[in-house]
Amino acid sequence: MATTTDTAHVDAAHAYVHLPFCARRCPYCDFNAYAGRDADMDAYADALLAEARTRLPGTGLETLYVGGGTPTYGDAGRLARILEGLREAAGGAVGEFTVEANPGSLDGEKVAVLRDAGVNRVSVGAQSFDDAHLGTLGRIHEASQIGRAVDRARAGGIARVSLDLILAIPGQSLAEQARDLSRVTALEPDHVSAYVLTIEEGTPFERLVRRGRLPEPDDERDLSHLHLAVHQLAAAGYARYEISNFARPGEASRHNLAYWRDADWIGLGAGAHSHAGRSRWKNVDDPAEYARAIDARGAAVEWTEESTSEVALFDALMMGLRLVEGVDLDELASRLGVDARERHATAIEKHVRAGLLLVEGTRLRLTPLGLDLTSYVLRSFLPDA
Ligand code: SF4
Repeated sequence: MATTTDTAHVDAAHAYVHLPFCARRCPYCDFNAYAGRDADMDAYADALLAEARTRLPGTGLETLYVGGGTPTYGDAGRLARILEGLREAAGGAVGEFTVEANPGSLDGEKVAVLRDAGVNRVSVGAQSFDDAHLGTLGRIHEASQIGRAVDRARAGGIARVSLDLILAIPGQSLAEQARDLSRVTALEPDHVSAYVLTIEEGTPFERLVRRGRLPEPDDERDLSHLHLAVHQLAAAGYARYEISNFARPGEASRHNLAYWRDADWIGLGAGAHSHAGRSRWKNVDDPAEYARAIDARGAAVEWTEESTSEVALFDALMMGLRLVEGVDLDELASRLGVDARERHATAIEKHVRAGLLLVEGTRLRLTPLGLDLTSYVLRSFLPDA
């Protein structure tokens, strides 16, 4: 499947940019992230900007999201060069321009860099407000730095703030979870992402679980932490619009909505995925290999694939049913050429009878119970199911 297909010209309104470097590796993390690779950062920035100049449309973007890794890790001058270069390559006008930030590295200088580059939204990786739990997660920051980072971002002119929280950390009680959520809402962010911790294959956390030094994942416990978050955030004015995402009115992440609504996007940087119609492709993971490939041939694509209409339908349902609004079946049928109501009539009927799915006019969506059992429901829509 490896190919060097020319994927340069995609007419997408959304772009994701990956900055894969971190101060150190968190033991639960399975992202494409690297610690101890500072020597690669300058060449990586050069390659990223070269890829951006080739692949961004130059006529503006609705959303641009810079994630990682830790985008705020490292030298402020290099970050300024990257962000300004990205904005220029995007053609200047970017509707929602988000950068992920670590509370431990979002200092005043970095906030000024973000603002000057036109960033109008920061996503702050708080994860917990309890130093003991931050220690379990291996995070570099302390709880006291979170509020200061949020205040600094606002005072520095970043209009919108999102906070990330991890739920059901090993050893965390429901009362401690509730305290974390109160600390979140006290900071009055515009948006909250609250993901239950998952034990990912190949991570130090997975090894600790195998050796009995961390508890086995427990679905019931995970759900009770998630339900607590749903209720506590709703009471504070944050509506759940996706399984793990909550926003004040009008503050949903436009970038993430684009993924969940199956829009096209351009992915730049090491390990980044791109999506255009039925085509998907992915860049190589390693940042040094990525930089060498861009330098040598102007592209770093590791694989590309073309979906059949069945696979495209599954992908659209897998993403769209994460949203509380669900999917529009007429829109999917006309865009993908296959109607879920015909292809999956039996599964839809079964899940509607079980109270997991709702059909409302042309829309299909999960009920609150269905949102708890998303993986089970989605398995029925697998192309060969
Ligand atoms: S800071 Fe984020 S990307 Fe980096 S190692 Fe930790 S979880 Fe992974």
